[in-house]
Amino acid sequence: MKSTYLLDWIRPEIQQLSAYHVPDSSNITIKLDAMENPYRWSAAMTAEWLELLQSVAMNRYPDPTAQELKQQLYTVMHIPQSMGMILGNGSDELIQMLALTLNGQEHTLLAPEPTFVMYRMLAHIVGMNYIGVPLDATDFSLDIFAILEAIENYQPALIFLAYPNNPTGNVFAIEDMISILETSRGIVVVDEAYAPFTENSFLPYLAQYPHLLIMRTVSKLGLAGLRLGLLVGAPTLLEQIEKTRLPYNINVLSQASVTFALKHYPFFEAQALQIRRDRDELLKQLRVLKKVQAWPSETNFILLRVEQAERVFTQLKQHGILIKCLHGSHPLLNHCLRVTVGTPAENQAFLQVFTKLV
Ligand SMILES: *Cc1c(COP(=O)(O)O)cnc(C)c1O
Repeated sequence: MKSTYLLDWIRPEIQQLSAYHVPDSSNITIKLDAMENPYRWSAAMTAEWLELLQSVAMNRYPDPTAQELKQQLYTVMHIPQSMGMILGNGSDELIQMLALTLNGQEHTLLAPEPTFVMYRMLAHIVGMNYIGVPLDATDFSLDIFAILEAIENYQPALIFLAYPNNPTGNVFAIEDMISILETSRGIVVVDEAYAPFTENSFLPYLAQYPHLLIMRTVSKLGLAGLRLGLLVGAPTLLEQIEKTRLPYNINVLSQASVTFALKHYPFFEAQALQIRRDRDELLKQLRVLKKVQAWPSETNFILLRVEQAERVFTQLKQHGILIKCLHGSHPLLNHCLRVTVGTPAENQAFLQVFTKLV
């Protein structure tokens, strides 16, 4: 019997989806594609961490409440104690929990575009209606009239605002964000994945807006491999979202390791500060190039436009340098590339090859 009929069981939304693509980086010597922190830990810190891991009980289920880890996150991120917190296996999992919670007949998830692709993917996976509202084509600011009109028309259950935005690197105007908060009757999630690289945050607005949730992650700080994200907001709302969390989603090694790492928070803050300085330096050097458009950034990456993005991307790869080609991913990103800020040596190596290619 042929087995092709099995696909008939798969929902069309899933069949039409292309899986999240992670490029092969085996022949890559300089990896600047995924907003990772380029620095490893000091030998002393690694030794201290390994010592601690010996005491972790791998035979036991993790603490489902992760109390110690949560308390540390409240402290280092200056989160008001009156707010609730949910942990996710990366913020990706939190986006999934939000979509599962707010899913429903004709419920809409709205986001400005281009933005982080997981919002759209997870809306489709759970079967929510998805609306993407284009950003301004030149500076990627919010087209606030279009957004407010879409909010009126679709009454979204869930709005995602990446602040700063990925892949454009900018923060949206505070007054535009406030008008969205004032207009929306649904939940507004401000995704602050790039908080380590900007002074801007919506944490101070939590007390004022009960439908506002702030999402953070330790990935861009330098702990992407441990997979830990957090969602913060009014406890009554979070209690509902918490019901969709699998009981042991943060494993014992991640709990112990992130708790350990956050005790060395100043070490990571110093790295983020270094990356910010290197980002500004890289931007300055990119802006000298005549055939390159480079947008300002409050993140650890820079968005670029060149004449032939696909050729430049492929040739960089042949030189062992991996960045992200955004050409074809959204109409506003024609011939765009995204480069993550690496170590000063990596940035210079990238710049040297890139300059020749453009
Ligand atoms: C990288 C990124 C995330 C994903 O973070 P994880 O915690 O690693 O899952 C979420 N939102 C935005 C905007 C990002 O760029």
